[in-house]
Order: sequence, then structure tokens, then C-alpha cells
Amino acid sequence: MRNFFSRLIKDQKGMSFFIVCVGITALFGMTALVTDFGRISLARQRLVNAADSAAMAGARDLCFISDPLTRELEARQRAIDVAKANGAPEEGITVNIENYKVSVDAEQDVNLIMSRLFGVTQRNVKAHAAATVESVKSYLGIAPLSIKDQTLEYGQMVTLKFGSPNSDTPGNFGALALNGRGSMNYEYNLINGSQETVTIGDVLETEPGNMSGPTEGIDERLSRCTDGCTFDNFRPGCPKILVIPMHLDDPQGRDTIKVTGFAAFFVDREATLCQTDEIKGYFVQMASTGSTDSNKPIVSLYDAKLVE
Ligand SMILES: [Zn+2]
Repeated sequence: MRNFFSRLIKDQKGMSFFIVCVGITALFGMTALVTDFGRISLARQRLVNAADSAAMAGARDLCFISDPLTRELEARQRAIDVAKANGAPEEGITVNIENYKVSVDAEQDVNLIMSRLFGVTQRNVKAHAAATVESVKSYLGIAPLSIKDQTLEYGQMVTLKFGSPNSDTPGNFGALALNGRGSMNYEYNLINGSQETVTIGDVLETEPGNMSGPTEGIDERLSRCTDGCTFDNFRPGCPKILVIPMHLDDPQGRDTIKVTGFAAFFVDREATLCQTDEIKGYFVQMASTGSTDSNKPIVSLYDAKLVE
């Protein structure tokens, strides 16, 4: 039996050697594929994540930077920084900003290990992402006030609650009755923001009368800012920011308005020299149905959204 096997081995030595060679080559080939495939997949996934994050960060900057001169530059730089921070090599990052859309392309040459045995040293991987800016259609926490839908300039001072005497809006000083009527309800909403989500197209009831006492509740709200925010330097979400619905109606006394958009104002009663029954604010952000894609207002009530 032993002789049989040794003869068999001897006879088939040449053939065996050939089979072994083919086997080893195949094994190396498989290993190369598996090892390098893993490296390529990892690199590609990292690039995809980097491009997605970069596009979103750039689009958010387009929302939040008010200065049109620096907006695109800063958004582009932010996208590059975020892509780098997420592992994309700087030389492979391309950022394009057009019409409030931030496109990010990232590419990278991945060095291969096992595939070098077959003369393949590198593989180029690519990722693409794009994010755009879309307006906020709903808002939770509006102040119980409203203004006419209008084109506003960043920093423009706007009267949000008229004082007395009030000639513009008979019997209506700008107050809203949100989830309930009356001065207590109005004051609560002024201090805390409405607890109900309001969506563009919603019809809201106005609260007639000057409401001079409850309007002073605004001072309690403003005192809740603990960061010393000013118009030039405020924290997003600061209590001094009032988000207010806009409309195209002429409410008379207890009436209704239809919400066409939202605008945000930084309120500083001392700086705006308000009477106690008045509220004025500096316009900072807007989302309006009246805006067109090519000419969006300078905004922050927009949010970024990944589209590619
Ligand atoms: Zn603040």
C-alpha cells in the first residue's frame, strides 16, 4: 500500500507541482481580492460619509451666514474643512456652490497591498453628494404676534406689536390668540412661545386690543437670555429671538390671518426705544412662500437637506 502511494506521488510529481502552483496563485489572488476589496470598500464608505457631511455643513452655512459677500466663500471652506475632518484628502475635494446647492466630490487613490503581486498598486475611489437649502414650512414655538409678509433687509427694525395710539390696524395691535383667547394666554405664549406647531397655510385667530400689560411679559422672556446676546452676536435659539408668522391679510379686531411664511427677529427693547406696550425687533431670518429658488432671502429659517 505504501509503495502504491509513493509510486503514485512520484508518477504525478510534475502534475502535482503544477496543481500546487496554480493553487497557490489562486490563493494569493483570492487573498489579494479580499484584502484589497476591504481596503477599497472602507475608503469608499469613508469618502461617501465625508462628502455627505461636507455638503450638509456647507448648505447649513448658506442658511446661517447673512452676509452675501462671504456666504459662499465661508460655506465652501466649511465643506472642505468637514470633508477633511472626515478623512477625505484635501487634494481630492471639489466643492461647487450654485443656486443654494452645495455639491461635493471627493476622490482618493487607495494603495493596494496584495494586488501588487499582480502589478496593480492603486485604485481610485470617488464619492459625490449634494445638499440644498429648503425653507421651513412649520414652526413650533412662534410668538403670539404677526406681521405683513414683506421683503425685509437683514437688520431692519420692524414693529412686531404696535403700541397705543395705533393708527395702522384698527382694533388690532398685532397680537394673536394661539390655542386659546385672552390676555393670560397671550402673555404665556409671548414668554414661552406657542406650544402648537404652526404650518404655512394655517389660519390663525387674532387677539384684539392693545394688551399693554401682558405685552410687558416680553421682558421676562428677554431676561432668560443668559449669554448676553446682542444683535451682532447671538446664539441660535436665544429667547431674544422671536419667530413670527407673516400674512397678507388686513385683520380687523377679532379676525383671522392665513400664514404665508415665518420671520425671525432679535428683540432688544432698550436698543429699539420701545414704549412698554410695544415690541420691535431686528429682522434676522425669514422663510416665506413668496421666495423663489433663484432669489432666496437672506435667511436662517431654512434648513439643509441632502439631495444627492
Ligand atoms: Zn441669548
